[in-house]
Amino acid sequence: MKKYQGVASSRGIAIGPVFQFRRAELVIGTCENQDPFSEWKRLDSALETARKQLNQVYEKALNETDEAQAEIFQFHIMMTEDTDLLDRVKNSLEDRRTNVEPVYMEVCQGYADELAAMDNEYFAARSADVLDVANRVLRILMGVAESPTAGLIVPSVIVADDLTPSDTILLDKTLVLGFCTAQGSTTSHAAILARGLGLAAVGGAGSDVLAFKNGTGLIIDGGAGLVIVEPDESTVNTYRQRAEQVRTLQVEAQKYAHEPAVTLDGFRPEISSNIGDVAGAKKAVGFGAEGVGLLRTEFLYMDRPSMPTEEEQYQAYKAILQEFGTKPVVLRTLDIGGDKELSYLKMDPEMNPFLGVRALRLCFKHPDMFKAQLRAALRAGVGYNLKIMFPMVATLSEVREARKYVNICRDELKAEGIPFAENIEIGIMVEIPAAAVCADMLAREVDFFSIGTNDLSQYTMAADRGNPGVANLSDAFQPSVLRLIRDVIDASHKHGKWTGMCGELAGEPLAAPLLVGLGLDEFSMSPPMVPVIKALIRTLNAKEMKALATEALEKETVEEVRGLVRNRVPAAAAVEG
Ligand code: PEP
Ligand code: MG
Repeated sequence: MKKYQGVASSRGIAIGPVFQFRRAELVIGTCENQDPFSEWKRLDSALETARKQLNQVYEKALNETDEAQAEIFQFHIMMTEDTDLLDRVKNSLEDRRTNVEPVYMEVCQGYADELAAMDNEYFAARSADVLDVANRVLRILMGVAESPTAGLIVPSVIVADDLTPSDTILLDKTLVLGFCTAQGSTTSHAAILARGLGLAAVGGAGSDVLAFKNGTGLIIDGGAGLVIVEPDESTVNTYRQRAEQVRTLQVEAQKYAHEPAVTLDGFRPEISSNIGDVAGAKKAVGFGAEGVGLLRTEFLYMDRPSMPTEEEQYQAYKAILQEFGTKPVVLRTLDIGGDKELSYLKMDPEMNPFLGVRALRLCFKHPDMFKAQLRAALRAGVGYNLKIMFPMVATLSEVREARKYVNICRDELKAEGIPFAENIEIGIMVEIPAAAVCADMLAREVDFFSIGTNDLSQYTMAADRGNPGVANLSDAFQPSVLRLIRDVIDASHKHGKWTGMCGELAGEPLAAPLLVGLGLDEFSMSPPMVPVIKALIRTLNAKEMKALATEALEKETVEEVRGLVRNRVPAAAAVEG
């Protein structure tokens, strides 16, 4: 038995035999003295076939996941029509007069390399998309069948170097228990798709996993980012029991998904969801979410050739608000930068993008873009319970500046006679330690806080949230992070304001007792966790949890904090998996 620590890509446990996912190597030969025109025609017809295939993949993705995730394949379709790239192929064909395969491959590889060289996770993922499409077109040109899973006949855990989005969507879900990749990160498209499909997944597990033989026993723990090869019997039994226990609890919890989460002594936090689009909104409602604690609007801007207009955004926000009726929906303004970029928005290269012109800082540099989003939000909010939240706030001046934009938009809409929501709550994400430390100051000028523990952990601990090598540091159970969380909640309450949490910690069963103890007013998490956390909270006594939280804040390590909760609240430990 051997363990490998990777990155937690998609929660869940998968136990089964290894199936190595290997694509047949394409051997591309060069034939001289070819007619450029007929080679171009061959490529044109292969591109047409690729588009037809991709449309089918897009439809499959729409059925199995949601619109935002299916959009990846729209990007693939667009790539088959990219005139700049195809012009490069055409010119090169005329110069070299060879068959089209090596020319097309070289041009695509060059483009993919350009994207990968940007040293940015988002573009690195797009680079993989370019090669994914190039491989598809080359397979069509060369008449090579596409089926790296032809030998997959028993339910297995897929092991691969990396999985492209189309690999992931084309996997036969009746035979795939989960997957583990040597490369990849939490933000790779394969990881996002896995979460949407409810498949357990671990990324970044290292190249050793590629040596596992087909049929070898494997456990992947997607929540912990752990891969265990050749597990002994007792480990298999432990994980089986955990998986079974979690499944039973989930089924049981879903029966009461639409009931509120009230502790034994009457404390009733709001349990909401993090979503990115209408499909997510429908899912959240089905799982009993009492609202949206984080609407990640950046997905509306990504994987498309141009900026969404104010009207498009207005329609998109309205469609989401309609799903929730009078329930609160917290719309977070654009959080681009860091690991997320927009192909159509020029951004200067940065040494440390996570510490650079990201989110609100970027919006201030693009006032028209920011105003279009605020106007769309203010308009969509009419008749609904919409709240606006600014990400990456570090100073009070930024809050004032952002509020100024809201006021400008209100004045403009008023002057134009366009209806807009008059009394919208304005809040901020507390995800930079500076904001947490000065929370008392900020609380005077905002209506609410939402703690973004994903970033708050990485910035407090100076540990990249996407780097498996420092995952033990960028852990929200670190005493320093927990103390900041306590201070933020206390500061807001002192000023009569409320605090929510939309970082991953809010959906962590082991954190729920502590967050109840600290008096967190709103928990926002991925939709499937809503019934589970609600059920757990119903078993707790808030006064007892307050004492537990006080004790936890005196602990010196993450292990001690987790150990304390596991010991005192077995119900939380039971759903941890
Ligand atoms: C966070 O930082 O905790 C958060 C919720 O925002 P994101 O993960 O989108 O950065
Ligand atoms: Mg964040």
